[in-house]
Amino acid sequence: MINPASRTKSIELSLIRKMFEVTNPNAINLGIGEPDFNVPKNIKDAMKKSIDNNDTHYTPNKGYIELREEIVKKFKRDNGINTDPENVIVTVGASEALNICTQAFIESGNEVILSNPSFLSYEACINLSGGSIVPVDCKMENEFKLKADEVLEKITPKTKAIILNSPSNPTGAVMEKEDIKAIADLSMDHDFLIISDEIYEKIIYDKKHYSPGKYSDNVITLNGFSKTYAMTGLRIGYLTANETYSEELLKIHQYNIACASTTSQRGAYEALTGPQDEVNEMVKEFKKRRDLIVSRLNEMGYETVNAEGAFYVFPKIEDKDFVMKAAKAGVITVPGVAFGSNGKNHVRMSYANSYENIEKAMNILEERVVNG
Ligand code: PMP
Repeated sequence: MINPASRTKSIELSLIRKMFEVTNPNAINLGIGEPDFNVPKNIKDAMKKSIDNNDTHYTPNKGYIELREEIVKKFKRDNGINTDPENVIVTVGASEALNICTQAFIESGNEVILSNPSFLSYEACINLSGGSIVPVDCKMENEFKLKADEVLEKITPKTKAIILNSPSNPTGAVMEKEDIKAIADLSMDHDFLIISDEIYEKIIYDKKHYSPGKYSDNVITLNGFSKTYAMTGLRIGYLTANETYSEELLKIHQYNIACASTTSQRGAYEALTGPQDEVNEMVKEFKKRRDLIVSRLNEMGYETVNAEGAFYVFPKIEDKDFVMKAAKAGVITVPGVAFGSNGKNHVRMSYANSYENIEKAMNILEERVVNG
């Protein structure tokens, strides 16, 4: 037996994936992290056409220039970020974008400030890069929003980076503009990098999204097409950073991936340039479901924040056996502790499932778990 490298041993396979392997296939799945919608037709057509045109060769490492030009316009329009196509890299999902950030910038001896709870990949990527995590608790009394004054307390001479994720997986929290701006200022004053994962940017309710990249040059902004355009399986995302940083990121991207899939890049171009009606419809539908799930959980006595974005709620549920009981009764959820120690006493529920299924799932929980 050949031993894996110690970096590989430093991480574990995802708990969420493991759970799906063992649970009943007929259960209602509130564990998933992807939209239940289909890819809009105009995007599918663009991809089919590109294959028929034999547009299936390598693209430039950073991605097609036409796509990067559209991404530049998007950053200006939606985020107030001024960049140019040379400083954009089209990646294999936001996942690759995240991994190249940590590989290019984090090493042993570096501290990375990270919300607790947060998306599972952050911890794994930081561990793989050899850095250490400095957690900041996102408190329920602050609606799980990361606060700049709490970040300030964690800064040391070893602080190399912070990962921001607003709207957040797993809590749905949307950070306040003043905290985003204050953390951006801290990144300049204390010389650290902000890795800003904005993949849920468009899935936001009655609230505006702000990007730290508008306020600081020490920011790598990550985004992707998985959530906004339901393109999870097409594995396509992007990032931007200033010239110095993007060149370092490109080295890792180039030797790992060469370039993102041609077909997916053509779909991404259509996504950015085509009509946005389906995105707006999807967000409206998510909002209805959010309202339903939050009110039902609160009625059952599970304190739940009216999350302002993404498609997750993070109710307080102290019953240690809740996730198992719910799974047996036919509703799959994820234990909050999977996202960090501060997630204990919480459960993540995704409402990327139909309104009817969410209603059914809530009935099951009420009848068989709460009153069972
Ligand atoms: N960031 C967050 C916060 C996510 O929830 C996810 C998907 N679950 C990703 C990144 C990865 O997205 P992609 O499909 O673009 O790799």
